[in-house]
Amino acid sequence: MNAPVRNAAVSLLPTTGSAPATRFALSLPLVLLALLAVAPAVLPEFYVTLLNYIGLAAMVALGLVLLTGVGGLTSFGQAAFVGLGAYTTAVLTTSPDLPGWLAWASSPWAALVVGLLLTATVALILGSLTLRLSGHYLPLGTIAWGISLYFLFGTMDTLGGHTGLTGIPPISLFAWELDEGRELFYLIWAFLLVAVLTTRNLLDSREGRAIRALKGGMVMAEAMGVNTSRSRMIIFVIAALHAAASGWLYAHLQRFVNPSPFGVHVGIEYLFMAVVGGAGQVWGAIVGAGVITLLKQWLQDWLPSLLGASGNFETIIFGLLMVVLLQRAREGLWPLIARLAPSRGTVRHVDAAAEPLPRKAMPTAGEVILEAKNVTRRFGGLVANNDMNLHVKAGEILALIGPNGAGKSTMFNQLSGVDTPTSGEVLFRGKAIAGHGSREIARLGMSRSFQHVRLLPRMTVLENVALGAHLRGSRGVLPAAWRMDRDEEGRLLREAAYQIERVGLGEFMHAEAGSLALGQQRILEIARALASDPCLLLLDEPAAGLRLKEKQALGELLVKLRGEGMAILLVEHDMDFVMGLVDRVVVMEFGQKIAEGLPDEVQQNPRVLEAYLGGVE
Ligand code: ADP
Ligand code: MG
Repeated sequence: MNAPVRNAAVSLLPTTGSAPATRFALSLPLVLLALLAVAPAVLPEFYVTLLNYIGLAAMVALGLVLLTGVGGLTSFGQAAFVGLGAYTTAVLTTSPDLPGWLAWASSPWAALVVGLLLTATVALILGSLTLRLSGHYLPLGTIAWGISLYFLFGTMDTLGGHTGLTGIPPISLFAWELDEGRELFYLIWAFLLVAVLTTRNLLDSREGRAIRALKGGMVMAEAMGVNTSRSRMIIFVIAALHAAASGWLYAHLQRFVNPSPFGVHVGIEYLFMAVVGGAGQVWGAIVGAGVITLLKQWLQDWLPSLLGASGNFETIIFGLLMVVLLQRAREGLWPLIARLAPSRGTVRHVDAAAEPLPRKAMPTAGEVILEAKNVTRRFGGLVANNDMNLHVKAGEILALIGPNGAGKSTMFNQLSGVDTPTSGEVLFRGKAIAGHGSREIARLGMSRSFQHVRLLPRMTVLENVALGAHLRGSRGVLPAAWRMDRDEEGRLLREAAYQIERVGLGEFMHAEAGSLALGQQRILEIARALASDPCLLLLDEPAAGLRLKEKQALGELLVKLRGEGMAILLVEHDMDFVMGLVDRVVVMEFGQKIAEGLPDEVQQNPRVLEAYLGGVE
């Protein structure tokens, strides 16, 4: 991965630099709240209505920010979930003869609960069918079920067909009947603000990091112990629930429902809103919903008189504007707005007094930690690893070297559980790990870095490393959303900060990981691996791309870790780096082990000299 050194100012951000950012982050919601509180009193009816629609759309867009912007899963089908929420309450609150077991659900609030439960169930079923799909198939899948649900609304007699259902009662809040747009306004925006704040909280937590890690690739996230299918399902269900809540409010605002607002074309509009606002930004959902709703409204009003003809011009202009916007502001509008403030506040307070996380006892020095027995891996006719045997002991550094194409990376994958040997077995702390997922192996105390750095460039160094401690925490989505996870979060961040200091990246703690030089990013990956409290580190070409000074620092770090009893296996190309550092060397060529021993012995071995040192290298 190339790492442009952007945002140099941010990477060196001193603690004081965060003050304006924090003030900005704090004051913005307050200003927003004050404006919202007076809006219905001062604005004409028309604008209150518009704001209501913006609020309703923003809730759906917020779900998409989480699902698409943060999680990288594109859904065109969110409008169907809005419909699910709307139709559930419409049926329950208007039906004169509900079956006895459902009679309790005829009030709007009870119907909301039923609607959310129903939506969660449908989302779980659809999610388990479609979230497995990769690439373009997932968006296509969402279009498919979006269309099916839409036609279901229009076809079922109990749902009123294409005419829909009328006579939906207003929502009552205690004794207050919200039968006017001006009144429902407060409920809509209260729902939205709670959704924005809980989503923000969620993203800034252990589960949130796991969700954000989805974009860093499944292999990395799983190696950090993240259950990626679970994380995908979580954001899918949350996004669906936001949409359903919006639908519930919509039904009680309109007091009737028909299928037209729940079609796939509306689903596309919601997606636009999320993208326009800033696909990964929670506040961007409101910006996006606002811009698109207003734009559509104005274009609809002005264009026909401007052009002196009637027609759907707004759709055409709208499409063109979208294209321009996506060209000009690929990250959406919110980052542009946020840039007006001095800097984005990413400095997290690390509580040095937080209780340290428990550590596993290190194995005794000399104990065999990892053992490969007759490992063979074939790819069709090609034998990438042929009958390989090796072991790594606690408190030693073993290097696996060999010319390009020798099979080192393949072997690394067998050892780390990313791949399964065709025959033979790999024992980690005496347990056969072949076929066990990398999550499970991480739990046993093996942690790794990647040949091609895999980190989350927009997250801070601290957050990236905290992801490594994922398995050492347990608080889930709900505690995170309501900030009841702060105790554990403090402990996780403290651990991350400790590992960052340990590898010498302390001054970059709050910098965006993507702003670091490649060498530092590699060190960051080691800190992330250490945060999982491993007893074995697997490092794939950790010295590649490092300058001499950085290599020396890396070497010192590895020696220090070895001194603490860590077992370290490195796959490496750089002979100078390896020979001065490691205890033993295993040399591979054409998938086979051709030599094993002390660095000096191996360097003298004629076979090695021929294969490797005297060869192409
Ligand atoms: P090294 O890391 O030592 O350079 P690799 O383990 O990447 O070598 O590759 C060893 C051999 O296995 C190469 O010939 C490579 O083309 C082949 N190979 C590696 N992975 C695969 C795969 N997934 N499918 C087919 N062939 C592969
Ligand atoms: Mg390789």
